[in-house]
Formats: sequence, C-alpha cells, structure tokens
Amino acid sequence: MGVDANRLGPILADYGCMNLLQETSTGCPYCGETITLLVDGSVEEQQYIEDCEVCCRPIHIRVNVQENGDHQVEVRTEND
Ligand SMILES: [Zn+2]
Repeated sequence: MGVDANRLGPILADYGCMNLLQETSTGCPYCGETITLLVDGSVEEQQYIEDCEVCCRPIHIRVNVQENGDHQVEVRTEND
C-alpha cells in the first residue's frame, strides 16, 4: 500500500547503529562531579580527552568494550 519495504532496510540498519551508543556516568577525577559519557559499543577500545563541564580540566577517558557488550570506563587526570 504505497510503502516500499526495500526502503525501510537502510533506515532500520541506521537505527541499529545508534543503539550501540550507550550512556554511562562516572566521576570527574579532579572535582568528583558526575559526568555523563556516550560510549560507542562498536569500538573495542577508545581513548579520548574530554573537558569536565564543572572544573574545565581535561579528563583522560579510556573505554573498554567487552564481547558481551558491557563496558568499563577509566578516568585519569592528565598527570597520571
Ligand atoms: Zn571536574
């Protein structure tokens, strides 16, 4: 009825990718404020730096995604 099923395929695939982004929270290693991170579950290991929204210091973030989809987040100060 006017809907081409073939066109829905890519849309659903994109939606599936978005589901790999998981929100997680951890504490700033400088000021202890809770910070929320988006973890990309499709990348096994990620390292990046994000400035704390509260104290503006650079937080070194390392994320490990396990095979079962769980992830571990480590945060460090720039001096560690
Ligand atoms: Zn902070």
